[in-house]
Amino acid sequence: MSTQAAHPALLIPGPIEFDDAVLQSMSHFSESHVGPGFVATFGETLTMLRQLFQTTDPASQPFILSGSGTLGWDLVSANLIEPGEEALVLSTGYFGDSFADCLTTYGAKPTKLEGPVGGRPQFPEIEKALSEKKYKIVTVTHVDTSTGVVSDLKGLVQSVKKVSPETLVIADGVCSVACEEIAFDDWGLDGVITASQKAIGCPAGLSISMFSGRAMETFKNRKSPPASYFASMKNWTPIMQNYEAKKPSYFATPSPQLVHALNTALTQILARPLSERFQKHKEVSDKVKKAISDLGLQIVATKPEDQSHAMTAIYLPDGVQIPDVLPKLASKGVIFAGGLHKAIASKYIRFGHMGVSITDPNRTDVDKALDALKTSLAECGYTKA
Ligand SMILES: *Cc1c(COP(=O)(O)O)cnc(C)c1O
Repeated sequence: MSTQAAHPALLIPGPIEFDDAVLQSMSHFSESHVGPGFVATFGETLTMLRQLFQTTDPASQPFILSGSGTLGWDLVSANLIEPGEEALVLSTGYFGDSFADCLTTYGAKPTKLEGPVGGRPQFPEIEKALSEKKYKIVTVTHVDTSTGVVSDLKGLVQSVKKVSPETLVIADGVCSVACEEIAFDDWGLDGVITASQKAIGCPAGLSISMFSGRAMETFKNRKSPPASYFASMKNWTPIMQNYEAKKPSYFATPSPQLVHALNTALTQILARPLSERFQKHKEVSDKVKKAISDLGLQIVATKPEDQSHAMTAIYLPDGVQIPDVLPKLASKGVIFAGGLHKAIASKYIRFGHMGVSITDPNRTDVDKALDALKTSLAECGYTKA
């Protein structure tokens, strides 16, 4: 039995449901952020990230910063590209567009390649774009939380290496790390940014990222200084390296309580093979997609190979409105999110299926959600055609 107060299952695409032990590790007594106890915890947590991202290259550099997923975009924009330099932004929804805005804020010049709503840009057009102009970085949203479209990171790196091998490939993995496979070294990624509150299953408040040795070299070879003070790799890299070497170090105070929670979440995730975790998310996602289609509903991500295993964006039937259906779902104990993609925002809802809701055999969140969806739509007057 969970020790948490009774509450509806939070099945939005992050924050997700938390495990009791993860929550309890936040009520740790206060520690000095430079004391030996916390330094050991932080160092171990950074090392565990190497396993989560599947990198054994000692040149790979993990970062854990106080902030949300968005801070990862600042970290990339302020350190890996300089004002006036070009970025190719592959957008599959709201979050790709926002990454482009962040790059612009730091003076970089993003060129956006978009897929149709519910799709993604294809490799031939990506390769064409890369052959026409020199891009310092390519950014891609692994799972765009506004559409549930997943991008093929492995194939993308191969495409980029073929046409423009110097270009860094950076993935926004905020809604994918810890539920979709990411083989950082094998695939040749240069950066993956994420956050604590999505598939990792730790309360919000941490920006988590991994950069390749090549990305760190690119940073060192900058001509201009980092374009941010808090999000500066110059300020944070020695701190992360010291913590990982179990040496106290200070630039700005980290959150010991959140780092304890992340340590617990990662310990749980890494206690079993990652492949098993990815497979479980895939199986549950397949079951959700089948149930949605059995209900006669359409999924925003059109092609099966573009559908993420982290979440499902579901078009509502004609005549059913978000303000009708979400409260009906809530009254049955499940919380879904409304639409986010500008072009279709009022027409669809989002169902996150990540983390303990999927992996904890004592939880029935997903079955409850599918039942609640069926009943709520019927209450809204929907009958399958
Ligand atoms: C949630 C999300 C973000 C933003 O993360 P915050 O923690 O809300 O700042 C960025 N990218 C993707 C793909 C996301 O799902």
